[in-house]
Amino acid sequence: MAPGECMNTDKEENRKMREKIMNDECEEYETCVRCGKETKMKKNENKIYRYGYIEGVGQLCFMCHQTRKIHKQGAYE
Ligand SMILES: [Zn+2]
Repeated sequence: MAPGECMNTDKEENRKMREKIMNDECEEYETCVRCGKETKMKKNENKIYRYGYIEGVGQLCFMCHQTRKIHKQGAYE
């Protein structure tokens, strides 16, 4: 392999990595339906893999989801 080729490969990798980071930053996140705060859940993420998503209600942030769980159950089961 020529030294030039090696450098090109490195550049390509770096470019891909930068694009990935850019895309991550541009992703839209769900907002909590209770407090309006931005959650860690991406809008394009499958609902079944999310925590805090309630069918028919929407996405809750971590704090609201925890609070809701405690209020609803009253105790840990
Ligand atoms: Zn919230």
